[in-house]
Amino acid sequence: MPTLAARMSRAKPSAIMAVAEKAKQLKAEGRDIVSFSIGVPNFLPGEHVYAAVRDALAKDSGQYGSNRGADALLDAFLHHLEGTGLGGYTRKNVAAGIGAKHVLYNLAEALLDPGDTIAFAVPYWTTYVDIAEIVDAKMRLMPCPASQNYKLTPAQLDAALPGVKVFLFNNPNNPTGMVYTKDEIAALADVLVKHPDVWIVCDDIYNRMVFDGIGYHNFVNARPELRERTIHVDSISKTYGMPGWRVGFIAAPEKVAQAFVTLNSNHITNVPEIVTAAAVAALAGPQDVPTQKCAEFQAKRDQVLAAMNAIPGVVCPRPQGAFYVFPDISCAFGKRHGERTIANDVDLCDALLEVKGVACVPGSAFGEPNALRISYTCPTAQLPEGLKRFREFFAELK
Ligand code: PMP
Repeated sequence: MPTLAARMSRAKPSAIMAVAEKAKQLKAEGRDIVSFSIGVPNFLPGEHVYAAVRDALAKDSGQYGSNRGADALLDAFLHHLEGTGLGGYTRKNVAAGIGAKHVLYNLAEALLDPGDTIAFAVPYWTTYVDIAEIVDAKMRLMPCPASQNYKLTPAQLDAALPGVKVFLFNNPNNPTGMVYTKDEIAALADVLVKHPDVWIVCDDIYNRMVFDGIGYHNFVNARPELRERTIHVDSISKTYGMPGWRVGFIAAPEKVAQAFVTLNSNHITNVPEIVTAAAVAALAGPQDVPTQKCAEFQAKRDQVLAAMNAIPGVVCPRPQGAFYVFPDISCAFGKRHGERTIANDVDLCDALLEVKGVACVPGSAFGEPNALRISYTCPTAQLPEGLKRFREFFAELK
């Protein structure tokens, strides 16, 4: 029998999907489940997006499109970048792919040879590990526990970067919801300037979901000389409630954007025409949906954070963006809930789901086994009930 490629023995099924599947199964059995598991927005884009799609269908060419992305799409993204505070790019700096996930794979192929090292902070978005595994890169992990607010420090970055080819940075962060302040970004940017051989990939896809008026900040604005080796990754998935439409982008030095286009020409050819119309409408049209959703998420963040802080022993740094809260729940380890022993984060999430019908993702999926992730994109009406059950569970631990 022929064998699969060796890399497939390293690829794991998604832990997030496993929790979601189990929750779905319990729901099908008639259980009342509150899902805090999957990180998908629970809203749809504005009507103008659907109107643009209907119009595009009426005019569909049915043809292959540009490997970089249609001009209208590139221009809409450039307009969006300006709104993000990232002006100064041209069509030659940008390109589109099939969601930020595909964009990150393209970048890994464009920037990393087998054996090169990619550095990123822990906790991390699960896919970063899979991407590194698939391109046979080495990983340099920078642990950022709750005691340092899940944030990378300048000293830590400085110590980690020698020998690194790509530094991958995620702000606002999944799974922690943490957002770096202007000063924190400036301090990290000062370190990056000292390491001129490192590419900087900024996965900023939650940049429109920042709370408390602190704003989204980036290395390029802090130290303009970093622009020549920084790549910004963006996506319509979270901002516009369009994860299934699959459109992501880069803003990058021309050389990187060109390499990305070459990969597109070999992997995907183009972002489909109808999807392009939807993305253009979302990026260039009225922004009231993302603005309103961001305000709603901030109010939900307040509810979740208050609930976590009311549980003795739970440590929960204050997230200021995205739609995640990442409490350190290690105070529960070694305790019992009824007949069950809670040895770790996986036991805790299993018990929480089976006993209380609340689905959360174990922190170990993100490299931090002392925590769990709550994604608060569930319908607002379900949130108090889910949080009540969560608190009850902790109160019942012995
Ligand atoms: N980066 C981060 C940090 C994410 O959380 C996600 C989606 N969960 C992605 C990238 C991928 O997004 P997309 O839907 O655009 O592929």
